[in-house]
Amino acid sequence: MGRFAPSTTGEAHPGTLLAALLAWLDARAAGGRIVLRLENLDHTRCRPAWAPQMIADLAWLGLDWDGVVEQSARRRDHEDALDRLAAAGRLYPCTCSRRDRTGGRRAPDGGWAYPNTCRARPLPAAGWRASTDALRVRLDDGPIALVDEGGLDLTQDPAAEMGDPIVVRRDGVLAYQLVVVVDDAASGVTRVVRGKDIAPSTATQVALQRLLGLPTPAYRHHLLLVEAHGDKLAKLHGSAPATALRARYTGDELCGLLAHAIGLTPAAVPIRPAVLVPHFDWSRVRRDDLVTRWDGSLSYSA
Ligand SMILES: [Zn+2]
Repeated sequence: MGRFAPSTTGEAHPGTLLAALLAWLDARAAGGRIVLRLENLDHTRCRPAWAPQMIADLAWLGLDWDGVVEQSARRRDHEDALDRLAAAGRLYPCTCSRRDRTGGRRAPDGGWAYPNTCRARPLPAAGWRASTDALRVRLDDGPIALVDEGGLDLTQDPAAEMGDPIVVRRDGVLAYQLVVVVDDAASGVTRVVRGKDIAPSTATQVALQRLLGLPTPAYRHHLLLVEAHGDKLAKLHGSAPATALRARYTGDELCGLLAHAIGLTPAAVPIRPAVLVPHFDWSRVRRDDLVTRWDGSLSYSA
């Protein structure tokens, strides 16, 4: 079972559609199933209208799903996991601000590592739900050995290198690292195919799976579409929203462009994703990030 799990914090962009295509091809080429999970817990960033639009944009590209899960409907399961972590003595409130970490140790994801400062703090007597501080999970110390299917070495001591993850934000929103693990297990996900930007979080997620007694899926991290920002490259984001893409291309045209750009087809001709399935092979998929430009049309430079 595979999954594609976009957050519904805005319109799909070319990077979203490429990630969806790759996760879908990975599942379908193996004769497997795949669910679409809409990550919509962050009510400060997600709008309800983005969810149906994401489904429509993915259908426009030619992708279908064996189920659609809205993360916000899974609150009980998420709270169960938090209850179990609290009962095991793993949850603690963190009163640190972002500024407290700044200038400390750099984490593998480029941010600042959390030095587990508040580990000794107790939960409120009334339980984790009564906390007005952010909550973190005390991970086991020590390395987690991990190499993904593409050969990317993700071995890490997540408690030391990243720091204990936040699982409930100060504003009560349940945080990514925990819910992704709980939701993957609930859907029976055995393969996680996603962009390289998430790769540094994998060891933290495996550590959480172990604490909760959940299985670890196979992981594969793929290239990103990036764009130039001054002399830096950043993940391509808002510059080419799906409404603009759909006004410029048919779904088959965009699928053909993406498939050619990553090495799956010899020419950028319109193609249905289903036509790519019989010959899909990760060894043919480009590994390096792809510099992408949007100026009314999409263009790439190697
Ligand atoms: Zn703290």
